[in-house]
Amino acid sequence: MSDTYDLVVVGAGPGGYVAAIRAAQLGLKTACVDENKALGGTCLRVGCIPSKALLESSERFHEAQHGFAAHGIEVDGVRVDLKKMLKRKDRIVRILTKGIEGLFKKNKVERVLGHGRLDGPGKVVVEAGGETRVLEAKHILLATGSKVATLPGLEMDWDRIGGSTQALAYPEVPEHLIVIGAGVIGLELGSVWSRLGAKVTVLEYLDRILPGIDDEVAAATHKILAKQGLEFRLGTRVTGARVEGEGCVVTYDGGEPITCDRVLVAVGRKPNTENLGLDTVGIELDPRGRIPTDAHFATSAPSVSAIGDVIAGPMLAHKAEEEGIACVERLVTGYGHVNYDAIPSVVYTHPEVAGVGRTQTQLEADGVPFRSGSFPFMANGRARALGDTDGFVKILAHAETDRVLGVHIVGPRAGALIAEAAVAMEFGASSEDIARSCHAHPTLAEVVKEAALAVDGRALHI
Ligand code: FAD
Ligand code: NAD
Repeated sequence: MSDTYDLVVVGAGPGGYVAAIRAAQLGLKTACVDENKALGGTCLRVGCIPSKALLESSERFHEAQHGFAAHGIEVDGVRVDLKKMLKRKDRIVRILTKGIEGLFKKNKVERVLGHGRLDGPGKVVVEAGGETRVLEAKHILLATGSKVATLPGLEMDWDRIGGSTQALAYPEVPEHLIVIGAGVIGLELGSVWSRLGAKVTVLEYLDRILPGIDDEVAAATHKILAKQGLEFRLGTRVTGARVEGEGCVVTYDGGEPITCDRVLVAVGRKPNTENLGLDTVGIELDPRGRIPTDAHFATSAPSVSAIGDVIAGPMLAHKAEEEGIACVERLVTGYGHVNYDAIPSVVYTHPEVAGVGRTQTQLEADGVPFRSGSFPFMANGRARALGDTDGFVKILAHAETDRVLGVHIVGPRAGALIAEAAVAMEFGASSEDIARSCHAHPTLAEVVKEAALAVDGRALHI
């Protein structure tokens, strides 16, 4: 059987499914292929959403145990029902992935279940349960995402020694969890299990946590998380991990092996390009295994584009979405653009960490003259009322034009606060623009305003 489409999207993660919906809105006859029964990709099934569900549940447990008393609320016998907590997470995932099925129906996107691979120009072969179907397409969009990366020497059994997917569903709270990698996944899922009662040791190769995040913000986050009980061993290169008896043993350079009951490997993710038929259209991968594209997501093969985790850039759901939209809008209208200088990133620890734009280190390395203003949550009325005063907002603005170049936050609800900074940067705002905008009182957003005032040395409340 052969079917003809204007666009065939391979992969129904946030990049692929959003691109498919937008393409259909723009009038393209669109099919979206995914080998997984549940739509939504890594993000909805085993990434953003389930991790945030567990972060929320574990934070509430922690708050009930350690935070309520300060408010004069006495609670006795707070316990975790882990099964129920995991079920709640699974239900949220089910609702959201089903929701995409509904969106596909509403927008007349045809969903095709099976493994898709290119088969020469304009053809995608889909295999499922021994059946093969050929889709013919004027244009093909690859949005196959990424999967967990491992290290040589790690004997993964995908149970006791596993990645984030396993860490979203441990059947019991580990007594001792070793996390390899102090990046985003290590800190988010390390926080979940630490709050639920595990001893968590994070082994990190670099001499800092959260590479890529502003140095000052990362250092402050390190301190805060260490105070919460996460043990960090920095400058530690892990060389091996194996299951031994009921537990695991982790080895690293320059120290005694550590035993624990579970290991979470969180050393990054690698693009999904296996059995994708790239050779049939002459696409070669870059040295990091990604599909090379130009600024408009075109690959080296005519009429084949690629977006999201499978191409270069930060591995973020909203980055994949923006690329998907820009890519199909360009196909139809001739224009479509992603502003990579204004893509926010958020780490959902407590407090949250968020940033947009350039870091101080990047500006210094590029010799860009800048002024910096910071303001602590400690001096904010709302943060006091919340009992959540750790952290600060830091704004970097060009020394001559005052244009905002970067905003970096560690503090309560940083993930929501960063939206203001992203919009400001998208509009080319100066720090003066933010400082002169009226911010409601009492809100955490006033810390952003005060940091903007601080760029000019005129913060009011400190
Ligand atoms: P994916 O979401 O990976 O989707 C790709 C899809 O393609 C999958 O459904 C896969 O089944 C399918 N596929 C692959 N190959 C084929 C094939 N040949 N045929 C058919 N189907 C195929 N990002 C954030 O922005 N915020 C977060 O809070 C966040 N939290 C995360 C937490 C965890 C634990 C993890 C692992 C990731 C998290 N991420 C987060 C990253 C985010 O999930 C990814 O950046 C995002 O999912 C990438 O989207 P994508 O569409 O490129 O690919
Ligand atoms: P990461 O790149 O964020 O961090 C990996 C860490 O592992 C680094 O700090 C690295 O130095 C360390 N490492 C590498 N080799 C090591 C070794 N041998 N021993 C010890 N440490 C070692 O990767 P991640 O945390 O796995 O996340 C993968 C991707 O998923 C990220 O790109 C991230 O953007 C995305 N993600 C985003 C969110 C979010 O936006 N909130 C949440 C989870 C994941």
